[in-house]
Amino acid sequence: MDFTFTPEHQMLREMVKKFTEKEVRPLSQKIDQEAKVPMELWKKAAELGLLGIAFPEKYGGAGAGEMGYCIMLEELAQGDASFTVMLGAHISIGAMSIYLDGTEEQKQKYLTKMCSGEYISAFALTEVNAGSDAANIETTAALKGSDYVLNGTKFYITNGGIANVVIVFAVTDKSLGAHGGVTAFIVESKTPGFKVGRELDKMGIRGSNTVELIFENVRVPKENVLGKIGEGFKTAMKALDRGRLSLSAGCLGGSKRALELSLNHAKQRVQFGKPIAEQQAIQWMIADMAAEIFAMESMVYRSAWAHDQGMRITREAAIVKMYCSEALDRIVDRGVQIHGGMGFIRECDIERAYRDARINRIFEGTNEIQRLVIARDVLTKGAY
Ligand SMILES: Cc1cc2nc3c(=O)[nH]c(=O)nc-3n(C[C@H](O)[C@H](O)[C@H](O)COP(=O)(O)OP(=O)(O)OC[C@H]3O[C@@H](n4cnc5c(N)ncnc54)[C@H](O)[C@@H]3O)c2cc1C
Repeated sequence: MDFTFTPEHQMLREMVKKFTEKEVRPLSQKIDQEAKVPMELWKKAAELGLLGIAFPEKYGGAGAGEMGYCIMLEELAQGDASFTVMLGAHISIGAMSIYLDGTEEQKQKYLTKMCSGEYISAFALTEVNAGSDAANIETTAALKGSDYVLNGTKFYITNGGIANVVIVFAVTDKSLGAHGGVTAFIVESKTPGFKVGRELDKMGIRGSNTVELIFENVRVPKENVLGKIGEGFKTAMKALDRGRLSLSAGCLGGSKRALELSLNHAKQRVQFGKPIAEQQAIQWMIADMAAEIFAMESMVYRSAWAHDQGMRITREAAIVKMYCSEALDRIVDRGVQIHGGMGFIRECDIERAYRDARINRIFEGTNEIQRLVIARDVLTKGAY
């Protein structure tokens, strides 16, 4: 076993850390208040090559694998959660769907532009009546001539209002159900009938764009079927395996930042004549935070490594997502407690971290669904 990062991965971490400290973190409060990530920041990340980190060089990527990608998200999450989610949705589930199941032509046409940042992507699976029960989607795609015609409404779509390209999952044969009857499509947002509905006002990650998308007779050429007809659900699940792991890398970064903020506060806040860091009650919270961060770091990078070795990580991704999102919530909660009253005040970074953290137990499959995935896998394949 080798638990060290390669020199390339260390260089990548240093580069993203500098970018985060200089460009991302200073904007975090503004992004939250204005509920918007400035496009200038997206462009700067694109110029640095961050949008293609996970993909091979022939598509304009950096070929840094899942390991490099997790390192990048861990660092970015120490700057701003909304920006991390914007990039995460674009790379892990939008662009990744094309990378996993697209044809070479589709990769050249779309993935290259997603790596360069020219295109923003989104992933549209959820509907009002199909959240955890994603197999129950009602959006339809009917073959008419050489096009598929899409009708339906998607809900809670990250980047949906700013995306150039959306991966849309639709029913092509209702009689076959999710496995056989759902197909993935690459839909360009400029296509007639593609409409952005209302933007949702959120508790946290307020700068990330979350919208309703409406499809009214949207004609999608056959060439834009992603993967095989009827196998869209498989594409979605494969992309979500990756998404859950990188989401956890974001949780790890958010946790490290919360600990750092808490340490700074605990060392400088004096009560009863000494810094509160000298109180055992505070030290215990700090110790619990550090221990959980150690566990998160170990599981994120072990799973990323396994993925880069070509192993299937469905169970691991579910375990890591469940553990890291719950650990992050415990960590930001202790962070607020260590900050006392100041932790409840809007201008304080830990207050925003507390709100931003909560979504991770819900999206990319709720933690109840992760527990179902883990239990089913353990019951069928055995514990280890
Ligand atoms: C900010 C945000 C961004 C999002 N981005 C995207 C996106 O980009 N693309 C996309 O497609 N979707 C996106 N989603 C949707 C997200 O994945 C869903 O919200 C999530 O999967 C849960 O679905 P639901 O909200 O309908 O909750 P429900 O499915 O209604 O669940 C409600 C509760 O019931 C529980 N529950 C449901 N079924 C079971 C069961 N069988 N056993 C035990 N408990 C169960 C759930 O765990 C949860 O606690 C986003 C959501 C949000 C809030």
